[in-house]
Amino acid sequence: MNSGPSHSIQKRKSVAVDVDGVIIGGEAPIVVQSMTNTDTADVDASVAQVAALARAGSELVRLSVNSKEAAEAVPRIRERLDALNIGVPLIGDFHFIGHKLLAEHPSCAEALAKYRINPGNVGRGAKKDAYFSAMIEAAMNYGKPVRIGVNWGSLDQELVARMMDGNARSSHPRDTAEITREALVVSAVESAKRAEELGLGRDKIVLSCKVSGVQDLIAVYRDLAGRGDYALHLGLTEAGMGSKGIVASSASMGVLLQEGIGDTIRISLTPEPGGARTREVIVAQELLQTMGLRAFSPQITSCPGCGRTTSSFFQELANEIQTHIRDSMPEWRKAYAGVENMTLAVMGCVVNGPGESKHADIGISLPGTGEDPSAPVFIDGKKAITLKGTNIAAEFRKTVDDYVATHYEKRG
Ligand code: SF4
Repeated sequence: MNSGPSHSIQKRKSVAVDVDGVIIGGEAPIVVQSMTNTDTADVDASVAQVAALARAGSELVRLSVNSKEAAEAVPRIRERLDALNIGVPLIGDFHFIGHKLLAEHPSCAEALAKYRINPGNVGRGAKKDAYFSAMIEAAMNYGKPVRIGVNWGSLDQELVARMMDGNARSSHPRDTAEITREALVVSAVESAKRAEELGLGRDKIVLSCKVSGVQDLIAVYRDLAGRGDYALHLGLTEAGMGSKGIVASSASMGVLLQEGIGDTIRISLTPEPGGARTREVIVAQELLQTMGLRAFSPQITSCPGCGRTTSSFFQELANEIQTHIRDSMPEWRKAYAGVENMTLAVMGCVVNGPGESKHADIGISLPGTGEDPSAPVFIDGKKAITLKGTNIAAEFRKTVDDYVATHYEKRG
């Protein structure tokens, strides 16, 4: 039986931030978060999507709070979720009028577990500090943490201009892209320092500097990670759709996570038409699990298939087992301690089938073209049974269920 992630990644030291019971940073596991794309003012749609994201495993969910109607909806969304026994903390994403919405809607300020503040979108000139300070004071009054979230697409232009001017006067001017990357980091760190001057504790501050380019993200977060022990929210912004978004997010965040950078992650995928919003949660979990950083759900190793498999049976079986596990996990997780660490293998033929199956807790090696029509099943590295005939899928599913029931401690 696999006992769980074993890895030697040394996480960067950061101050722990408590977001209504979910800890970001410090010694805590990396937190998975997501964001809704419903109109927050539409309470029914927002409750349904937050519930789906939470059930998929999102440990924090962010909503846009972009209008009076959205701010009024937040406490109602919170109440409805509580009635469904869904306690996932809600984060309010504020731009431009956050200071006003927090001041005018105390029940929204109270219902949210954290406020996201974008220093590039809190007013210009003298208003900038006044509006930023008002949001920090609201956070202190309500005892809430904040994320100071800088974004490439809405970077503080006054700061950029100041830094560009300074660079132009320098005897060794650097290139524009480098100055812009530095401006992102400076914007986050200076804003965090200002929040601390105003009295907000470092244990109430999370930082992020999101960009949409893979190499830029790696460079920016390496720099940010070296500028203090703030907890960091990691994410590639506007990552894109489908495999492009998944690959770009995984490539950039994988490098940083391997270096111990990142206390909470979000995968910003553009949903495919009709696609589920929950995909961003599953991808985030799979990224952390595949790197050995956390375990969320049993992992299935399956081979890609080749000319030795002329039927799609093993693809169907791998898919059926994946679906069975996804469907069973909500109950299994409640009933059996450590079940998320289980490993399975579904292999297409005798070439790598028995070997790979022996490495898994349960593995099946299906017959390839011309092989004896029987499927040996390996349990904890030893051949346990051989399945034959037309009922292999159902029998293998039952073997998995029996393994769970007999190998994981029943929770009280
Ligand atoms: S295990 Fe067999 S079917 Fe699968 S990829 Fe390898 S050789 Fe091909």
